[in-house]
Amino acid sequence: MRLPHSLLNNVQEIVIHIGLDGSPISKHHCIWPILGRLIQAEQLSPFLIGIYEGPKDPQDSHVYLQDLTAEIKFLNEVGVLMPDGVTRKPFAVTGVIMDSKARATIAGVIGYTGHDGCGKCDQKGRTINNRIVFSTSSGTLRTDESFTNRVYASHHKHPYPYGLEVANVKMVSQLPLCPMHLLYLGVIRTLGVLWMQPKQNALFTLTTNQREALNTEHLKYGLFTPKEFSRKPDSMYFVSGWKATQGRQFLLYLGPIVLQNTLPETHYQHFMLLFIASRILSLKTLVADENYVNLAEILLQKFVEDYPTLYGIDQVTSNVHIIYCI
Ligand SMILES: [Zn+2]
Repeated sequence: MRLPHSLLNNVQEIVIHIGLDGSPISKHHCIWPILGRLIQAEQLSPFLIGIYEGPKDPQDSHVYLQDLTAEIKFLNEVGVLMPDGVTRKPFAVTGVIMDSKARATIAGVIGYTGHDGCGKCDQKGRTINNRIVFSTSSGTLRTDESFTNRVYASHHKHPYPYGLEVANVKMVSQLPLCPMHLLYLGVIRTLGVLWMQPKQNALFTLTTNQREALNTEHLKYGLFTPKEFSRKPDSMYFVSGWKATQGRQFLLYLGPIVLQNTLPETHYQHFMLLFIASRILSLKTLVADENYVNLAEILLQKFVEDYPTLYGIDQVTSNVHIIYCI
């Protein structure tokens, strides 16, 4: 594991987050990089720890992670050797960032499309309209201890320590829900599809003219997109293929303006619950204030509670439900 030397002397402990994510590089090949980030220096780019390449996704995450697991265990025990070749500093992994699918695979638990698929609580999903849906509240929250002791056996695929658990990574508290996967690639795209690609018998639909107005309003802001944004607004009709940066731009910046006169007031106010909570949780100065964090929690819970009334009970998928369990 290679860490940037320039900052090592200024920290008492080497604390990193790890990112795991797969992506196709051709029709028949994919890569699964293992990335690290020194959390005391978030301004630094992530560094490469290792990389898997093969014709398909790693079939056994225990094997995929075995070198990483061994290295974490080693560094936990002896610390990280400093550039002077003598000094060692304590080492810790405090978070592993993944999407829902990878999180289930890496943790060796039921995936988000399963009845026991909520990674944060023991709420069981139900099948409605061929979809696994969850309630608008949380069950008993999972803990690191309940995970280790396999208290909810039907959630686990392995009765023994598996994958990163072997390296003492805390399998609930240190596998957080990240905004990129949960919101920018998750809930925002889901809402966009509900608005722009109505299904038959859907509880909520926009008319053709309303969809066109929404799309036109969104594209309009391409003329005023500052260079700090990596992309200009794309067609709302293609929302299901948006990149995370596009979902982020919509949730945190454009959504409140674009939707103000294009969604019904009830649905607009519902979106604003998510917008305000997300803005709070995106700003370090507000996250440091317990009152703001509590407000964000109330707004997110209200967002989940109102979801079935506005979009249908069959739309409360794992990605929506788990917001309540954060
Ligand atoms: Zn849950």
